[in-house]
Amino acid sequence: MTTNKSKQLFEKAKKFIPGGVNSPVRAFKAVGGDPIFIEKAEGAYIYDVDGNQYIEAINSWGPMLLGHNHPLVREAVIKAMENGTSFGAPTGLEVEIAELITKMVPSVEKVRMVNSGTEATMSAVRLARGYTGREKFLKFEGNYHGHGDSFLIAAGSGAITMGNPNSPGVTKGTAKDTLLAPFNDLEKVKEVVAANKGEIAAIILEPVAGNMGCVLPEPGFLQGLRKICDEESIVLIFDEVMTGFRLSPGGAQQLMDVIPDLTTMGKIIGGGMPVGAYGGKAEIMDFVSPSGPVYQAGTLSGNPIAMAAGLTMLKYLNENPSVYTQLSKTGDTLVNGLKEILNRLGLPYTINNLGSMYTLFFTDQKVKNFADAQTCDTGLFGKYFRGMLDKGIYLAPSQYESLFLSTALEQTHLDQILDANEQTLKSL
Ligand code: PMP
Repeated sequence: MTTNKSKQLFEKAKKFIPGGVNSPVRAFKAVGGDPIFIEKAEGAYIYDVDGNQYIEAINSWGPMLLGHNHPLVREAVIKAMENGTSFGAPTGLEVEIAELITKMVPSVEKVRMVNSGTEATMSAVRLARGYTGREKFLKFEGNYHGHGDSFLIAAGSGAITMGNPNSPGVTKGTAKDTLLAPFNDLEKVKEVVAANKGEIAAIILEPVAGNMGCVLPEPGFLQGLRKICDEESIVLIFDEVMTGFRLSPGGAQQLMDVIPDLTTMGKIIGGGMPVGAYGGKAEIMDFVSPSGPVYQAGTLSGNPIAMAAGLTMLKYLNENPSVYTQLSKTGDTLVNGLKEILNRLGLPYTINNLGSMYTLFFTDQKVKNFADAQTCDTGLFGKYFRGMLDKGIYLAPSQYESLFLSTALEQTHLDQILDANEQTLKSL
């Protein structure tokens, strides 16, 4: 397999783009070697500029739940383009997608569209602060909520991968209002809440974490947070940018039957276009401008092309619940196959999974929080990643990520992924 064109592009890119990429983890820094540059993608496959074909297990970090370049979404985008690309004025499409989101996601009575997950979480915390009149909020170590200043404290995903979970450029003044607790540790949350009584506007979390690798909530954890928030009048925010429309049509909240006050969404909601959203109880959402005093706006928010893609995606998911049975079956087949391989090779590594999300952690410890995830051998992960890539399997280029499977994966793809795993793991 040659990747000469990718190498040339990367050399040129580094002259004009910081690190050669528009989002840090894409640079493959954590796994060694140069990134591959992509030409196109279709169904279960992604193709680089040198013409190599890879089976997709990351799917644009989540959005491509139905595989790449799905014909329905593509047609909807082309049709919408015929009417123009941006109006900066309300459209019927926005009303339709908002209504559908409120039908699908249990916590959402009203919703505001934005352009990324980062915007959604920034806006949701501002809203919680405006609504409660309180300034602090609590997040969990290793959770990632986009790159808003106040979230870059013990942040997961690329922030850990690049070795700066606390980014320079975030002021002390901002950081002091971000409180932290370890994921799955209700006692610690209670302590922090008691020590900051009446001052916490929101608790925000990934209900199933994906940004320190896939980490599930322990039984009772989400329910416990719901109870604390009810007792202390704290706004509970589920960041479902990854899990929304992926773990079930209504996200993790529907699957686990714990209903937050606000929900942030992204990725799948745009069908591959840059879309985010935040929504929740009407009483809280009505605090958003222009119905309320909390300001939030966007020139391209509710963009008609993006809405056409998102609406088509969500309609399809709403009308085809079999998508979720299929995704779970695909996830289970892969994870069970992988566990068999690990057993056969006598390797003690840990796998966490739920539905179409999973992470193979290069540690023999159970992974329930950020500290556990950090026991992984990331050097070994890098070798594993490169081995898999050489065998035509495209994984997330960091240990601290979840994989995102799609409905385009068929049994033959799963067999190839498992074969590649066996060969790669043997060779490490
Ligand atoms: N929240 C979560 C849970 C995420 O996984 C991400 C991105 N991976 C974000 C927020 C930020 O979304 P975006 O990259 O679209 O800004």
